[in-house]
Amino acid sequence: MTPSTGPYAEIVVDLPVGQPLTYRIGEAGQDARPGACCVVPVARREVIGVCVGRSVQAPVADEKIRPVKRWFGEVEALDAHWLAFTRFAADYYQHPWGQVAVPSLPPLLRSTPGPRWASSLKRLRNAAAAVPAAGIAPAVVPELNAEQRAAADAISAQSGFAPMLLHGVTGSGKTEVYLTAIERLLARDPQAQALLLVPEIGLTPQLQSRLHERFAGLPIACLHSGLPAAERSAGWLAAHEGRARVVLGTRLAVFASLPRLRLLIVDEEHDTSYKAGDGVRYSARDLAVKRAQMLGVPVVLGSATPALESWAQAMQGRYRLLRLLRRATEAAQPQVELIDQRQHRSANGLTEPLRVALEQTIARGEQALVFINRRGYAPVVACAACGWLSACPKCAVFAAFHKTDGALHCHHCGWRSRVPRACPTCGNQNLDAVGHGTQRIEETLAAALPGARILRIDRDSTRRRGAADAALATVHAGETDVLVGTQMIAKGHDFQRVSLVGIVNADAQLVSHDFRAPERLFATVLQVAGRAGRSGLASRVLVQTRFPGHPLFAALRRFDYEGFARSQLAEREAAGMPPFVPQALLTAQAKALEPALAFLGHARAVGLGLRMAATLYDPVPMPLARLAGVFRAQMLVEAPRRSLLQAFLSDWLARLREGDLPSGPRVHWQIEVDPQEI
Ligand code: ADP
Ligand code: ZN
Ligand code: ZN
Repeated sequence: MTPSTGPYAEIVVDLPVGQPLTYRIGEAGQDARPGACCVVPVARREVIGVCVGRSVQAPVADEKIRPVKRWFGEVEALDAHWLAFTRFAADYYQHPWGQVAVPSLPPLLRSTPGPRWASSLKRLRNAAAAVPAAGIAPAVVPELNAEQRAAADAISAQSGFAPMLLHGVTGSGKTEVYLTAIERLLARDPQAQALLLVPEIGLTPQLQSRLHERFAGLPIACLHSGLPAAERSAGWLAAHEGRARVVLGTRLAVFASLPRLRLLIVDEEHDTSYKAGDGVRYSARDLAVKRAQMLGVPVVLGSATPALESWAQAMQGRYRLLRLLRRATEAAQPQVELIDQRQHRSANGLTEPLRVALEQTIARGEQALVFINRRGYAPVVACAACGWLSACPKCAVFAAFHKTDGALHCHHCGWRSRVPRACPTCGNQNLDAVGHGTQRIEETLAAALPGARILRIDRDSTRRRGAADAALATVHAGETDVLVGTQMIAKGHDFQRVSLVGIVNADAQLVSHDFRAPERLFATVLQVAGRAGRSGLASRVLVQTRFPGHPLFAALRRFDYEGFARSQLAEREAAGMPPFVPQALLTAQAKALEPALAFLGHARAVGLGLRMAATLYDPVPMPLARLAGVFRAQMLVEAPRRSLLQAFLSDWLARLREGDLPSGPRVHWQIEVDPQEI
């Protein structure tokens, strides 16, 4: 670590610079501590920085070094652990420290303070996020069953770093285990803080209210990007200043400043939302484990369908496995049945056995859920006369038809256009909508089930703030007979009267090129199935498929996650794939494919020239080779061990950043460590 005195401050900023920048500490130098936030000049701009150390010697002549413009002395400095943790994340994901540290700060600390800054700081400190919510009746806490008690006891018994994987079937009461573990921690240590990460907070208002009920009287902070800036800042401050005892947040919250963090929990740890999609592509789950290790505290990863990475860790004895094999309530697991679509032709996406089952469910006054992993009306419009297919002009994908606005939509770049009246190639006026999305299934169900109350929930139907909550409320209130939707209806919801789940189009994922597709399909189906029969109604899950003999379905029917995981891991090990072999992905973007591929070819030659233990595969176009007018190519890198991969990446990327690039059109490139989609 750099010294904590000296006339200069080392500052990291949110810019692509490899090393911290040096400044004179300037006025109010008593605030110039490592971890202090500040405003610094960079060229003609002023940006936010975090001090990571002090130095005695300047790298250049003193008169060239500019002073820090302002120190945020009003806010306590970030602690040494936070600095070390963000630095680890930056190194691991091969990004500059400042590009990890600064973007994780709340809005309050991310803009140059104006004249009213001090008063808004004061207001935020007194805001609701920092104080207990009033007027909430304390929860009736169910008595834990034997399995839950064993899991909660195992968590509470830990001191020091202890990674645990809580594998509990859907409805087994994992949340109750988390809450009990948190409750015991807070009772034992009156200053301790707990961090509970969830994949998507907007869809889990139930969890938020459960926390408030359970910990009535305790300050709880929420941290997610959907919140207004002031609420986010207030929550962050409450966590940073130790007032918030429980912090509930989405992936970015893994970077929250929590000076008394003693327990981390990652709910639905397999969820792909934990992986950041742009900027620094970190995995919040993996970082939570690392953070726990650095702090020497327990961390719990919970899921009904753990990521194979986590399961492998548990099988190798690195994570302790805790299990909940039974549902917490009287409810039995639903019966999973396959509908062979080779025998039962579907009409507009719906087979007769599924239609009959829906009818019977509604007749009994129960609810059904129909899942389809695709929004819109149909994924493509086609001309039968000449073979024209609707495509996005800017991406290498089909444009989907949305009946709600009569337009073609690109689900990747947002491009939109009215459906042509006639085929643009041959003039044929009878264009066909091919395939099914949520809107079409909704229409099919309305025709097949006259009088039924059908509700669709997907990204399109819930754009307005609060729309998703309002729609879900009608389901909870029993005002909906059939709920049609995408992933959005699969996650976490505790629907009490759902006794039938229909899965309309599972096959799309069975035939995917991505080696993780079976893992995702298995998780999705179990997750959706987990919505059924939660209150004890006898319940069924019907899966329409043309491949009923697929081994994945055999495991699904037995709810056999372990068997499925074992066979998948054996395949991955034999094929030398993650989690047995660590990977990184170098991607390049350009106005045409050739320069992107040429850059990767150059990068490959540079990499091979290093003669290190890394395998560099051939550069290829990405599966989505053109996105919003930009061409994309990728190159996969592997090494026998993680440490070797890290060593290779840091040498290699340093050369690429500094070295001469082939001349020609501009190419943007990024590195992704542990890529989830290849
Ligand atoms: P999971 O997160 O594992 O899917 P939840 O924690 O949401 O499960 O629990 C499922 C349901 O079971 C909830 O309605 C919860 O209130 C109930 N439940 C949990 N534990 C118990 C228990 N020990 N006794 C009775 N009901 C319980
Ligand atoms: Zn045509
Ligand atoms: Zn597009």
